[in-house]
Amino acid sequence: MVRKNKMIFTDVIVPLPLPGTFTYHAEPEFTDKLEVGKRAIVQFGRKKFYTAIIHKIHNQQPTDYKTKPLHSVLDETPVINSCQFELWEWIANYYMCSLGEVMKAALPSGLKLESETKVLYNVKNNDELHKTTENESIILEIMEQENVMGLKDLSEKSGIKNILPAVNSLMNKKLVLIQEKLREAYKPKTETFISATFSTRDQKKLEEVFHELRNAPRQLELIMTFIKLVQQSDAKKNFAIKKKDFLREAKADASILKAVVDKGYFEQQTIEVSRLKAEQEKLHDIKKLNTAQSTALSSIQSAFQTKDVALLHGVTSSGKTEIYIHLIQEQLNQGRQVLYLLPEIALTSQIIERLKAVFGNQVGIYHSKFPDNERIEVYNALLNSNNSGVAYNIILGVRSSVFLPFSDLGLIIVDEEHENTYKQFDPAPRYNARDTAIVLAKSHGAKVLLGTATPAVESYYNAKTGKYDLAELSTRYQDIQLPRVVIADILKARRKKEMSSHFTPELMEEMHSAFYKDEQVILFQNRRGFAPFLECELCGWIPECKNCDVSLTYHKKFNHLVCHYCGYHQKIPQVCPSCGSNKIMTRGFGTEKIEDEISILFPDKKIKRMDLDTTRSRNAYENIIHSFASGEIDILVGTQMVSKGLDFDNVSVVGILNADNMLNFPDFRAFERSYQLMAQVSGRAGRKKRQGTVIIQTSKPSHPIIKNVIENDYVAMYQSQLEERKQFMYPPYYKIVKVLLKHKKTDKLDSAANKLVKELKNIFGYRVLGPQSPLVGRVQNYYLKHILIKIEKEKSLSASKKIIRKKAAEIANHQDFKTLSIHFDVDPA
Ligand code: ADP
Ligand code: ZN
Ligand code: ZN
Repeated sequence: MVRKNKMIFTDVIVPLPLPGTFTYHAEPEFTDKLEVGKRAIVQFGRKKFYTAIIHKIHNQQPTDYKTKPLHSVLDETPVINSCQFELWEWIANYYMCSLGEVMKAALPSGLKLESETKVLYNVKNNDELHKTTENESIILEIMEQENVMGLKDLSEKSGIKNILPAVNSLMNKKLVLIQEKLREAYKPKTETFISATFSTRDQKKLEEVFHELRNAPRQLELIMTFIKLVQQSDAKKNFAIKKKDFLREAKADASILKAVVDKGYFEQQTIEVSRLKAEQEKLHDIKKLNTAQSTALSSIQSAFQTKDVALLHGVTSSGKTEIYIHLIQEQLNQGRQVLYLLPEIALTSQIIERLKAVFGNQVGIYHSKFPDNERIEVYNALLNSNNSGVAYNIILGVRSSVFLPFSDLGLIIVDEEHENTYKQFDPAPRYNARDTAIVLAKSHGAKVLLGTATPAVESYYNAKTGKYDLAELSTRYQDIQLPRVVIADILKARRKKEMSSHFTPELMEEMHSAFYKDEQVILFQNRRGFAPFLECELCGWIPECKNCDVSLTYHKKFNHLVCHYCGYHQKIPQVCPSCGSNKIMTRGFGTEKIEDEISILFPDKKIKRMDLDTTRSRNAYENIIHSFASGEIDILVGTQMVSKGLDFDNVSVVGILNADNMLNFPDFRAFERSYQLMAQVSGRAGRKKRQGTVIIQTSKPSHPIIKNVIENDYVAMYQSQLEERKQFMYPPYYKIVKVLLKHKKTDKLDSAANKLVKELKNIFGYRVLGPQSPLVGRVQNYYLKHILIKIEKEKSLSASKKIIRKKAAEIANHQDFKTLSIHFDVDPA
């Protein structure tokens, strides 16, 4: 523009919860490298360095402040494409947060190094060692000593002021890794292979072996099986077989194999396998659809001619996944990409294997429990999809995979679309991945298929009103009957003194008869509100968290009291601190208590528990599922986790231990949720062989929602809910924006919240509710208040949001409320 001022400026996104972008100037040495979507290192604040994203390049000098220089540009080519920018902006705008917060959620840690990042020395990778620069060598020397180090400390110790570029380069060479916050250190996935130490074609040698083992027939048999396998295989030389497969094939015990290995005939080798490049299993053909499935498929296909979104409402086990597979194949034939979204805990090896069996290595997995370097591998593979060796045409992933750098999406599948875990709860961006997927698809010209047995009321409404197409599958594959639902009245059983601890006679009887037939049982206990706690029998004292307004949960195994909101924990008090009595009892019943009591009632049965506490480590969830599927466990006790799309063949009884606490939950979605949970958990019963049984324990046997579950009548549930939503002004008729206020002082918080409500009521009137305290009114020493604003569908949502933002900013910037923080939750779950 102005000739004499040739300074070039860039607006960058910094991964911080601050509004807007920030302007830096580029020294002449960088100007060639500048490009929108590349990462740059910037200094922010006095000492801290961040990885920022270049968002705009221009030559307009800011008038109100002096710009700092850009430190360096990290990338040769952009890491964010234009579709991604578009999506980031939509999210920041729609969900009322900053671009920096979106960036934080969107990129794996390794792509956004900052002063606070901790890195790990990765000794294994020696080939790259001699190719390092001087700075890199200095860093490696320190890392060799320290092993783990924060970048700020590393910078001080090495004397390298801006350390991010060198660390970034070391990361690319895999000489350092990002330290994960996971509780358990990353354990690589390994596989053990068995091979022979002798030539299996050497007749003379074989005779020797047979002679030596003449008194160990089972060991000999194992060797014979091995030889048979060698002969069947193509690889006659260096034949090796997975230990697991070998034992299965030979129907042998690990102890026999060990004996053969110990004698030196076999060798075992354990190698690390990357989940990404897992070796190829034999591919299956796509399964032929039955009539109902074909009809649903063609209805979806023809709907996609005119509509962007279709809802597939199919009962559990009707073959929705098979339909997805057909649609995926269609996209691959056209050379386009597919994103297959699953809720976090439903992403199991069951579904991974099913997709890999058909599509092989084209499937990339994006999971939050995978280590960061594997997530970066997927990210980079998509980024370079035009010129790199690995091409992931299908991404199977959780919520955050909507942020991957797709180049040409043709289809997004959102499985279990009703799941509230698609919504990010905390921190911002509080986005719903299902709804975000629809926006993402639009920018690629892609279609979206939502699938579930129990649609969200909003989605079904959109389908019924013609916004989405609706396809239905009302029978299970091969017409296996849906389970029989039996209601067990807890109050009646209590009155008659027929309860065995928490179990009604109906449930006890069904369990006995299942075990008699060697079948398995799932017991479901909703966690919400029913965690076990302690109570003094004399004075009623209940131990509470000192940081949050919530009672502490009793964990028997660790003999500790734990706060589920902030993690605070303490020992069990010997005497009541309030009255001195030693009669402190447990109350409520969580999954751990159920596990305990069921083991007393069925002492010879194997029981496992599946909840947040037993599945923290990366493979724990998979291991429990695997041992249940393989029949090592008789009873699986769990929270909502057991309701998620699992496919077990031998489960004949599902017990829902207490339906009341779901129905009583104070939330406008409580009935919808209860229906979904009960229907989904029930879906685990009797999938393959014959009709299963579901026992619902409740003190409200005639509750309409329970009646809907018994009759498997989703539509009746939907209609009754719709009426209530209309009457009480909730979605789908109204949009909800929740304002979350937080302050350390309760009086400050109250006056700020009241002031904001008053301002908002001036504009929105009766549509404003609150302020109210959430169920837990104080978390980590911050007091919380919520304000709800209901906005008619017809009103302009974006105009309303603008006003809400403005009013909130006025309060937040008010000098009385300096440390007040205000967040927004749009479409709260
Ligand atoms: P959903 O996704 O609706 O729960 P699935 O796709 O998991 O149902 O189907 C349930 C079971 O039935 C799976 O084991 C699946 O492989 C099998 N199945 C469904 N449709 C077919 C088909 N057309 N041919 C062969 N097997 C099928
Ligand atoms: Zn707490
Ligand atoms: Zn007491």
